[in-house]
Amino acid sequence: MRENNSPESLKKLLESTEPEYLQQSLLHALPEATDVQLSALATLLASVSKAGSSPKHCVRCHKKFYENRNAQDSCRIEHDGREDGERTEIGDDATTMVEACCGLEYDGDDGCPTQFCIIAAHTTDPEEVEYYDSDEEGNQNVVTCKEKGCTKKKRKAPPKRNGSNSRTKKKQK
Ligand SMILES: [Zn+2]
Ligand SMILES: [Zn+2]
Ligand SMILES: [Zn+2]
Repeated sequence: MRENNSPESLKKLLESTEPEYLQQSLLHALPEATDVQLSALATLLASVSKAGSSPKHCVRCHKKFYENRNAQDSCRIEHDGREDGERTEIGDDATTMVEACCGLEYDGDDGCPTQFCIIAAHTTDPEEVEYYDSDEEGNQNVVTCKEKGCTKKKRKAPPKRNGSNSRTKKKQK
């Protein structure tokens, strides 16, 4: 069984396992775990524990979030309710509605298919966010922290650009 301990085989196992299954398995194993196992797990999960106790500020929706609870659909921005209708075709009853905020078009009879302009993962990296630009198209609800006024509120720790940490954080492809 030795070879199951190699980083390669553990990597393979982790990568091929659904996150939920992994979580459940660990939860089930906890009551039986020895002190040594528990402290090993705690060590391995140190970064998760840290992420769960240090809130970040999302530069898209401007809400507080925790990285370990940041799902692909955590960051949501609602339409701001300024929709407008137009006859789909002249002489036809059907209307096409357009949300002024994001330009989403939908059939007036069906109603808006989603409550949100944007559903994504929270981020701290402004480069990942498509901000509204009055010259170009874009979503009027998506503004920078500066425009939103977040920056005034003790928002320290500007994103580290030239890596003090050799690993570049993003780049998970
Ligand atoms: Zn967000
Ligand atoms: Zn919208
Ligand atoms: Zn902000």
